[in-house]
Amino acid sequence: MHSASGVVATPELGIGTFQHWYENRHDYAREWKERTGRKIVGAFCTYVPEEIVYAGGMITVRVLGGHEPQDVTEPHIFGMYCPFCRDCLAQGLKGRYDYFDGIVLAHSCLHFRQTYDSWRLHIGAGFDYYLPMPNQVQSPHARTYYRGELAKFKAFMEEQLGRELSDADLDRGIAVINENRRLLRQIYEYRKRPNPPVTGLECMYMAITAQFVDKSEHNQALRAAIAEIEAGRDVGRGGTIRLMTVGSENDDPDFLNMAESLGATIVIDDQCAGSRSFWNELVPQADRLQAIADRYCDRPACPTKDYPERTRFPHVLGLARDWGAQGAIVIQQKFCDPHEGDIKPLREYLENTGVPTVFLEFDATNPIGPFRIRVEAFLETLRNEDLFGDDDDGLF
Ligand code: SF4
Repeated sequence: MHSASGVVATPELGIGTFQHWYENRHDYAREWKERTGRKIVGAFCTYVPEEIVYAGGMITVRVLGGHEPQDVTEPHIFGMYCPFCRDCLAQGLKGRYDYFDGIVLAHSCLHFRQTYDSWRLHIGAGFDYYLPMPNQVQSPHARTYYRGELAKFKAFMEEQLGRELSDADLDRGIAVINENRRLLRQIYEYRKRPNPPVTGLECMYMAITAQFVDKSEHNQALRAAIAEIEAGRDVGRGGTIRLMTVGSENDDPDFLNMAESLGATIVIDDQCAGSRSFWNELVPQADRLQAIADRYCDRPACPTKDYPERTRFPHVLGLARDWGAQGAIVIQQKFCDPHEGDIKPLREYLENTGVPTVFLEFDATNPIGPFRIRVEAFLETLRNEDLFGDDDDGLF
């Protein structure tokens, strides 16, 4: 069904809403602007402090790829940058995000920095802001430094708005976004059940759409989804092999659909398209900007920000154990150096602590056939381990 402006209308709120929003994300954004008269800020990476943008009545829309072959980025970005950041730039060059009123990058990896710079130069948006979020978040100076940078960002956003952002404005942004994190955590908690009432693909849709849908509307849909689950939803996932996904950005529905068609269920993840983006709530304090700085420094880290201590490893292991994952699919976007540096030690760490792993290198369009063979073989080894136990000589 289409609205007056020809935009695809959102179906009844519930678990199906998220797939609809994912598949019609640009329609949703245009329809939202038309309906609310408010502005949209393109966000490069999940470290963008949404609370400040939301406080000003705008929403952030995370820039995502289109999972389609493209031939438009070569003149702008080197082919050795990760396919995700090139796919994102291609979406911009093809005009898919022409509804942006501004763009913001919170510094994370150099690949995405390249996408942002090229976008600024070759696509443009009403305004652009580079937020130098510290990479060494473990440094004792990181939070004070970042609070200072957030104050500059807030002042910049106030210039765009033509008015000051009050503590009440910030509290409103903090409240709606914290509620979103809480509801997503609640959904993830259901996945601990022996028979998870939601699939990994459905949860990917829920988590990723939170990165571009108005949080107050997303919260309504999450509440409806929780009601569906509480009403006894059963999707027949009992007895399947429980897996987790770990690594670079991954919002490939075809891949998750394939893996879950082989008798496996993805029950948890450690990825920026998933749990990393919402895992920890902001802890309110009088100094709102310090609270925001602390929240983004405390969240489960991207490898770009996880040193000198590798806090990700015990975090990932904890997730695997708490959600009962029998194995992990470790994913790297091709050429993604931040994750590449982690993959070998992380796999060893997981294997040595009882979580078998399989490694897959992702691209903008993934080879589902060959990946199916890899995942099937991995599931076979896990099933055999279940049957015969882990034979130390590594036969299985
Ligand atoms: S996938 Fe890796 S290289 Fe690409 S944007 Fe994310 S962290 Fe950067």
